[in-house]
Amino acid sequence: MSQLLYEGKAKKMYTTDDPYVLRVVYKNDATAFNGQKKASFEGKGRLNNAICTKIFTMLQGKGIPTHYIDTISETEQLVKAVHIVPIEVVVRNVVAGSLSKRLGVDEGETLERTIVEFYYKSDELGDPMINSDHALAMELATEEELAEIRRFALSVNDALRAFFDAAGIVLVDFKIEFGKLKETGALVLADEISPDSCRLWDKETHEKLDKDVFRRNIADLPETYEKLLKRLEDVK
Ligand code: UDP
Repeated sequence: MSQLLYEGKAKKMYTTDDPYVLRVVYKNDATAFNGQKKASFEGKGRLNNAICTKIFTMLQGKGIPTHYIDTISETEQLVKAVHIVPIEVVVRNVVAGSLSKRLGVDEGETLERTIVEFYYKSDELGDPMINSDHALAMELATEEELAEIRRFALSVNDALRAFFDAAGIVLVDFKIEFGKLKETGALVLADEISPDSCRLWDKETHEKLDKDVFRRNIADLPETYEKLLKRLEDVK
């Protein structure tokens, strides 16, 4: 018996016979600006599943624990069941998007130091930015968990930067989420890492290879994601 547990903007989660294992189905839907802009693209689910599989496999190979178990079809993965920590963690290497607007710095400026930001995961509130004190006062995570999340986020950044660099791509910024395994309580990387949740620019031309092509009507989304997948295919 497989029951729909949750339907998000880009994925659906189903139960499996194992209470500690869920099945994720990547959808063709794309949303932006907190769901205000919506579209569906043939092939998007397949492309994000393939790209995310490649990334999670690479991270696990480097010793970073994730919820990923296996990819079972073009659009489906098996993952470990987690309790999601309700904090979206954004890591930035280059100024773009909301940071550029908030601080009045041009997009494309390389940061002297990597920035880690926390956002409270709440659709109704539009994911407001918070600091560690807010996270602690709201009991979203403990002090130890926040420290672990920060360390984890920076190691994910190091691994991803090297991986994309080998494909001639700059990792500008990305969003990740963490979960506590239902089985053991251990903290792992959860959700997805895909061009929906990263900004990726060609090193030479600065061509965008991520969801900004949809947000800003720059190029065709499936063509862009296909191009990205091709470039990642040869990276170890
Ligand atoms: N991001 C995401 N989901 C969100 C918000 C941001 O995946 O709900 C990603 C986004 O794709 C980018 C990074 O996090 O890679 C930083 O996004 P930013 O804060 O600049 O917001 P945006 O300009 O996308 O609104």
